[in-house]
Amino acid sequence: MKFVPSFWDRARPRRHILQRILEETGDALLSYAHVRRIDPLGLRERLSIPNTVNLWIDSSGFQIGNMVAGRSNIFDVYDFQNSCSQVAISLDTPGDVQETYRNAILTLAYSKGFSISPKIYAVATSDGSFEHLHALVRKYDALDFDGVAVGALIPYGSLRLEQLGLLLTTVARATSKPIHALGIGGYDALYVLAAAGVATFDSSKFLVGAKWRIYHLARGGMIYVGDHYEKKNRRTRQTRTGDLPCRCPACLIAKRIEFFQEPKAESVAILALHNYYMMQNEVQLIKLAMDEGWFHHLFLDRAKKSPSLRRSMGPLGLSKSHKEPSNFA
Ligand SMILES: [Zn+2]
Repeated sequence: MKFVPSFWDRARPRRHILQRILEETGDALLSYAHVRRIDPLGLRERLSIPNTVNLWIDSSGFQIGNMVAGRSNIFDVYDFQNSCSQVAISLDTPGDVQETYRNAILTLAYSKGFSISPKIYAVATSDGSFEHLHALVRKYDALDFDGVAVGALIPYGSLRLEQLGLLLTTVARATSKPIHALGIGGYDALYVLAAAGVATFDSSKFLVGAKWRIYHLARGGMIYVGDHYEKKNRRTRQTRTGDLPCRCPACLIAKRIEFFQEPKAESVAILALHNYYMMQNEVQLIKLAMDEGWFHHLFLDRAKKSPSLRRSMGPLGLSKSHKEPSNFA
């Protein structure tokens, strides 16, 4: 399973430091809604994205559906994606299975008119019926898409992992194509993704959390290390001080918790970098456990402190005991 950091940031000083992530990661995701005003041909140069990075551009169907991003059509979105990305995610209409399917096949047909095309992932959306979802993904499976992206997972959040498990296993049963999970927020969700066989996922949690001065700890914990970074109305609050419990490259720069309390873009960016390493470590641990055959044990251990994760085990076909054989024994 691969973590594709979703890294858009309006603040230029932060972008400069977040560059470290781009140098390390092989893949990064940007949302069309965020970058649509930038000339796609100059996008890599403008945002200093190395040529070694596979750029994923999602269609922002979620934002558009929620009226955050205005109206778009599949041609505008695809033209943009085709000019700068290696992976293009079709424009979905969250909750509308028919419309989302129409958009996906229109995108595929339109892409055939270009000599070079990015990989195209069709979005699987859900109207609440798992039968409709299954039928939609079966249709995608028979077509020339490179993968299936599962969208609108945000409403499920980390609290509804049972639903997330059902959704992802329904998609996995309907296709043999790689599955990408869009917009993942919680650390526990990573275990559901891995158990369902998801190939890639994107998350901006490392960056969004950093803006709220959230410092992620190993194994899904977190602490607040300061006030929310905001120029106006800055609240003052007593926060902890002292050494950092981590030796990642970001924490070696920061050294102490107080560093993250400075009202500077740099401190937020370094915090985001630490959070990025934490999520990347968690993914590495999951991968290792899967390769070595002890993922089931890791999952059970993790589920001890998460009732929601425990409830997801049924839909995922995982046994709740160490003794019984499981999919991953
Ligand atoms: Zn760290």
